[in-house]
Amino acid sequence: MIPISEIVNGEVTISRSIGTRHGKGIVVLNISQKCALRCVYCYSSSTITGLEMSLENVSKVIKEISKINPRLVILSGGEPLLYPTIEYVFQMLNDNNIKFVISSSGMFISDRHVDMLKKYDVDYIGISLDIPSRYDSKIRVGSNFDKIVESIRMLVNNKINVGIRMTLTWTSMYTIEDMFKLCSKYGIHRLCIYHLAPSGRGVDTYSKLKPSREIETLFLNYLMKLVKYYKNIDVLTVTEPSDFLTIALLSSNSKREFEDTIGRFYRRCRCSAGRSIISIYPDCTVYPCQFNNSKSLGNLIYESIEDILSKRYEHSYCTRCRLYEYCRGCSIRVVERFDKDCTLYGLYTLAVSARLNIDDWKIKLLEEIFST
Ligand code: SF4
Ligand code: SF4
Repeated sequence: MIPISEIVNGEVTISRSIGTRHGKGIVVLNISQKCALRCVYCYSSSTITGLEMSLENVSKVIKEISKINPRLVILSGGEPLLYPTIEYVFQMLNDNNIKFVISSSGMFISDRHVDMLKKYDVDYIGISLDIPSRYDSKIRVGSNFDKIVESIRMLVNNKINVGIRMTLTWTSMYTIEDMFKLCSKYGIHRLCIYHLAPSGRGVDTYSKLKPSREIETLFLNYLMKLVKYYKNIDVLTVTEPSDFLTIALLSSNSKREFEDTIGRFYRRCRCSAGRSIISIYPDCTVYPCQFNNSKSLGNLIYESIEDILSKRYEHSYCTRCRLYEYCRGCSIRVVERFDKDCTLYGLYTLAVSARLNIDDWKIKLLEEIFST
């Protein structure tokens, strides 16, 4: 995740308090591929009849996860709150001293869920919303804006932190300012913006919905201005590590400042799929991250988590770039050792064709990076 607000403003609101300080790494636990919505780009291809992890395997998988002492487990899906014995999952995670948060569509949150979240000390829930109006249901088919807002109000009133998970598409990018206004209005202090990933149903919709790298770069340039204005909202981007370098360069006043920022943040920002993040599916298959779900690392029914993580996994990294060590590219998109959606490359093509005005030293630096 790229902490845009932290890079631009040097401060965060709630992001630092999510997860435990003594643990290491993040595990995404997709307990179910069942969901009543049919988002056109869903990375896990979830449906109303999707597979759910058996109760027996939930116990086994949580015990395995506890062996690696993660900083955080993200309970995701599908819609995790539709899992029939979700309280049992909460209880198991609690019994194994695992700090967890929830990723939800926000469509099925009831008073019972709120009581449960409070009982198990779940202090953060990420809710998906692309467009801050009823048009959201055009892309997130089956969503209901009014119901989502009602859920947000209920959670915030009960002092549970809410974050918005928004996927960047040709349609959602134009409503970004309204999304900030919605966050301010309802007391939401975290906004995570996901670049579209070609996985699950996203494989088919990717080319239609994804803005070009140049447009996404212009979006980042505008986002930076909003981030400076809305300082009480932590903004992060996901699935495009080059955003880190793009934002670091756009927000720096000198080459020295750019290099300092890279040095401070790169370990947190470069692609760490299969290293400090893994994703587990309902059939107990382990993948390198939520979106990178075509090549499995192993299966927890047959192997221990330590054995799976000790295997060497061949990533497709963006090794043609001079800044490769600080970014690596998003391995899902890398083709012939280059991440074709790199926003830093987008900044380079915009700058050299004078479509975006940036300082001369930045253009010179971009030319040095991409001259080959
Ligand atoms: S070219 Fe690749 S490694 Fe370099 S900044 Fe872009 S995505 Fe990152
Ligand atoms: S492959 Fe890497 S950069 Fe891409 S979504 Fe997964 S962890 Fe993030």
